[in-house]
Amino acid sequence: MRVDSMKDGMVIDHIACGKAMDIYSMLSLDKLDCAIALLQSVPSKKMGKKDIIKIDRILDINFDALGFISPNITIDIVRGGEVVEKKHIELPEKLTDILVCKNPRCITSVEQDIHHVFRLTNKEKGIYRCIYCDTKA
Ligand code: ZN
Repeated sequence: MRVDSMKDGMVIDHIACGKAMDIYSMLSLDKLDCAIALLQSVPSKKMGKKDIIKIDRILDINFDALGFISPNITIDIVRGGEVVEKKHIELPEKLTDILVCKNPRCITSVEQDIHHVFRLTNKEKGIYRCIYCDTKA
């Protein structure tokens, strides 16, 4: 993909169709003052259709959260108009403070200061379980 006029920034590509807005709000992109392009339902050979987000800035992103919203995302880091790094995001093994355990008796529901940690227990189905009480997310 051409990065056109971008000098420094990032391209979040191969987002599952319809998920760009979820990523947009999760990363709070509306709070940035740089240029952002959100492309939806772009034709893709590999995926049929996909979403793309271009950001005119290199952000410190929680890649685990991105992978959870839409696995198989790729991220191109652009510096000086060239792609200097390509990241391939997969379903993360562990999610910290992204999901909340629904079990009312779980220690994370009782105690306030405990991190909500979930572990990937089935990669094909993308199933996560609470590490404290084993409840499915
Ligand atoms: Zn739990």
